[in-house]
Amino acid sequence: MEAEPRPPDPMAAAEALWRTLLEHQPAVAAALAVQLRDMPEDWPLRAFGVGRLHAALELPAGADLPMEVVPYDAADWENCPACGEDGHCRFHAGFVAGYEILNQPLREASRLDPAVTVVTVLNRLADAEEAAESGELAAAVERFTRGED
Ligand SMILES: [Zn+2]
Repeated sequence: MEAEPRPPDPMAAAEALWRTLLEHQPAVAAALAVQLRDMPEDWPLRAFGVGRLHAALELPAGADLPMEVVPYDAADWENCPACGEDGHCRFHAGFVAGYEILNQPLREASRLDPAVTVVTVLNRLADAEEAAESGELAAAVERFTRGED
């Protein structure tokens, strides 16, 4: 059984985010410092709707997603700082899903015909999508299931 993911300690998470900002986006870190400096004294109420700092630190996460930084080198999957041991960051998870969607028909086509080219498979996929959109595919399935030719 997998352990429940624990919410990060907000102080430790803030420290880690701050260090990452300083290292990779110093201008954003400086702008954030200015924003924080200029916040009014009652900032927990204005920004978070709670009267005290302690209550703000215990607010639940808005979504069950890991905190991430934007990948600095989107092409470098291996060294993405947002991709952790728990899986890919949302950015690279999208790439993985896209590659999977593209690679599945390519793998199936090459299994059936090892000599098939990528261009041929992509053309077949485009033809199939066109046939589905025009209703040609549904008509062919209808004829086939009725036993007509
Ligand atoms: Zn990533």
